[in-house]
Amino acid sequence: MSQIEEIKSKIDIVDLVSEAGVKLRHAGKNYTGFCPFHDNKRSPAFVVWPESGTWRCFGACNEGGDIFKFVMKREGLDFKEALRKLAARAGVELTEFQRETPEAREAYDHLRKLLEDAVIFYRTHLFNNKAILTYLREKRGLTDATIETFGLGYAPNGWDNALKHFTARGYSEQDLIDSGLLTVREEADSRNTQHATSRSIPVGRTYDKFRNRIMIPIRDEQGRMAGFGARVVDPDDIPKFLNSPETPIFSKGRILYGLDRARKPIRTADQAVIVEGYLDVIALHQAGYENVVSPMGTALTEDQLRLLKRSTRRIVLALDPDVAGQKAILRGLEAARSAMDKEGELGFDARGLLKNEARLQADLRVAAIPDDLDPDEIVARNKEEWAKIIEDAKPIVTHVMETLAAGQNVNDPKVKNQIAAQVLPLIEDLPSPLERDTYRQALARMLRVDERSLMGTQARGPVMKRKPRGALSSPKAEATVAAVNPVLRLESFFVGIVLRAPELVYQVDRKLEESNLSALAVDDFEYTDHQIIIQTIRQSLEQVDRDYHAYVMAGLPESILPLANELLAESEKFKQNADALRDDLLRAVKKMRLTRAAEQITQYRYLQEEAGEQGDARAAEFENEIARLIKLRMYMDRMKF
Ligand code: ATP
Ligand code: MN
Repeated sequence: MSQIEEIKSKIDIVDLVSEAGVKLRHAGKNYTGFCPFHDNKRSPAFVVWPESGTWRCFGACNEGGDIFKFVMKREGLDFKEALRKLAARAGVELTEFQRETPEAREAYDHLRKLLEDAVIFYRTHLFNNKAILTYLREKRGLTDATIETFGLGYAPNGWDNALKHFTARGYSEQDLIDSGLLTVREEADSRNTQHATSRSIPVGRTYDKFRNRIMIPIRDEQGRMAGFGARVVDPDDIPKFLNSPETPIFSKGRILYGLDRARKPIRTADQAVIVEGYLDVIALHQAGYENVVSPMGTALTEDQLRLLKRSTRRIVLALDPDVAGQKAILRGLEAARSAMDKEGELGFDARGLLKNEARLQADLRVAAIPDDLDPDEIVARNKEEWAKIIEDAKPIVTHVMETLAAGQNVNDPKVKNQIAAQVLPLIEDLPSPLERDTYRQALARMLRVDERSLMGTQARGPVMKRKPRGALSSPKAEATVAAVNPVLRLESFFVGIVLRAPELVYQVDRKLEESNLSALAVDDFEYTDHQIIIQTIRQSLEQVDRDYHAYVMAGLPESILPLANELLAESEKFKQNADALRDDLLRAVKKMRLTRAAEQITQYRYLQEEAGEQGDARAAEFENEIARLIKLRMYMDRMKF
């Protein structure tokens, strides 16, 4: 999540606007009040949408935006100042955007080179070790081609094989420590469980971290070496898996094992599958299922989901039913969160996953693997079975409902209550009212109760749900769901594409004008960061006549760069030619404008009614506006693009 998004998710726009002295009251899903930016105390033309975190004045200003725009306008600040101010309010520490310095870059590349050399070193030892090779070939069913492709290796037993090998080849001990291949013996380290005999190494001395283990190279999504996962050979050794320590180039929460190879297949299949183990990833790829990745013994992070989201929004978690099932859900939120850092457990935190799903606008599903088997064992017994298991993946809420009900007597009122008590909070968390209704109905059907009895206990009626502001919960748990918002999606799509190819803005303008519609305007966008990007693009188009992209990127405020880069990366997946892209952009603008007009119509209707009741002459004015907007909508609807 970019810092801008994080700030948005932590600040309640209704609070912010209220604190600025605007009295707001409920009007359906929204809040309305008097506009603080223009003088009019007769009709409340200022509307706030908590779901999208945006506001708009339908009166004289006819302006709108998000929290940043509000503060900029209210306090006369520029974006950066507003960002600082709201970051402080949200408790988000702004890291100034830093480009990797050339020196850092060189140092990282040096470590990556060392790790590449280590892959070769471990591979040589593997091919010299009959027993391990036989284990991989026969027990794990891996072909030599697979062993080669995934660069598997073997770290020989002994304390200084890697140390001697690499120092003899010009690497320093510090290089080896920095890359995670060597460990420094620390004083009286009682937690050092790997090998009692490491005590024989003097304090301060270094020794090989990986000894007598099967080595699995871990690469980042670009295929650059990042670290190793290492599995025991001797079942008595602990831990079963040992990973490289966190280094500047290896951050477990930001890398997904196998993604470098899985990226294209994920795009082709428009689906990513997440499993738990390295060896499962390898076996599945060998079986022809190449859209598979795994985390590295830790719970899935939002960063990892984001990495996948660049290639697809359809993500399936293939889990051991035991993990995904009752036990994990019953542990509740606290336990699930504390399990986050525990090694060796993917975990299943339905609520956390749902929040990520909503925030990332992803489609997350759960596939349960039967018979207590690992994925590699499934494909070993029947390749096709895997496809079937993934096909049967269920949306998270459905999965939770079904696992809770499995083997229980749902006719027992106590069971009904227990299940409802666990599932309803998940349903209430869903951002889409339609989805909430659908799941509530499904739950009522499953429990054979009247849907209204479920509404009675939990539902909040038509009132917008506000996020909890409990001082007890941690900020992490507080992060609210940025509602799945079609306007945000459209704007992000548009901005991503024109960042990559700014000249498309001209073409969009021309087409709009051909249709007698106004050219693209900053005001077509609700989100301040998008507005800033569009404005920068406009300026660049005027100032230079080529290299637009580079010029735009250089012209963006630093604080916008992370977002811009993210949108750019997302835009990579749109591969259509320039004409098709232009038409998609046109359609996006059309939808944005149609949505805006629909919102305006609703709001003017409301204003008109109020004015009518009070005998205010402006009722007729509003009526005209409504008629104009309806015509505009009909006109735009007929556009052929
Ligand atoms: P195998 O089939 O060889 O037993 P696996 O990959 O199925 O291996 P699991 O024990 O199911 O192994 O663990 C799944 C994943 O969890 C591993 O691939 C590893 O990423 C992680 N893991 C397991 N145990 C540990 C551990 N002790 N420390 C760190 N990560 C672990
Ligand atoms: Mn396994």
